[in-house]
Amino acid sequence: MHPWRDSVPWTAVRPAQGARPDEAPLLAELEALHREIDALQTGHRCAGSTVCCHFGLTGREPFLTSIEWQAVEHALARRGGPLGRTSRARPLRGDAEGEQICPLLTREGRCAIYQDRPLGCRTYWCARALRPHPVAPYLRRDLLRRVLDIAARHQPQGDCGRPLSQLMEEYQKPLTRARRPRRRRASADRG
Ligand code: SF4
Repeated sequence: MHPWRDSVPWTAVRPAQGARPDEAPLLAELEALHREIDALQTGHRCAGSTVCCHFGLTGREPFLTSIEWQAVEHALARRGGPLGRTSRARPLRGDAEGEQICPLLTREGRCAIYQDRPLGCRTYWCARALRPHPVAPYLRRDLLRRVLDIAARHQPQGDCGRPLSQLMEEYQKPLTRARRPRRRRASADRG
């Protein structure tokens, strides 16, 4: 699996539901690996165009393993939930649907879960980026292998990556459903 893939049908592996008792050490292992990746890329500078967070513009989106998704879920819980509609990034060129903007990109052009962003986001650098010393391909392969290894221990088939947009859609479905009846009740009260 490559952490970024072109838009292809996604593998039907369900993300982990809720925290598992043995999950904390695996999340800690992932976090340590993230620190290692950041150290390998010391001096790299992103131009901040956010184009890579517009999947419709690049034709690619990050695929997350189960443990990476779990880290994102925890990060979202810490910030009090996903971004509301008015806090999300606006399209750069055309319409939001066509650009497929990452639901984790804020209106200010920042990643809402930056510290916990997955390997695909962490290691992708576009042509505008400043990279004084690109990470050697064998090191990149090793990083991917290690993330896959943690994910395989986290959940059966957890190492089969899934697209970020699909995971977010599933994550938000119950939240949307929970909000609906309140709105209906409110309009009934008004009537
Ligand atoms: S998770 Fe963050 S860095 Fe990755 S595509 Fe979304 S907004 Fe961009």
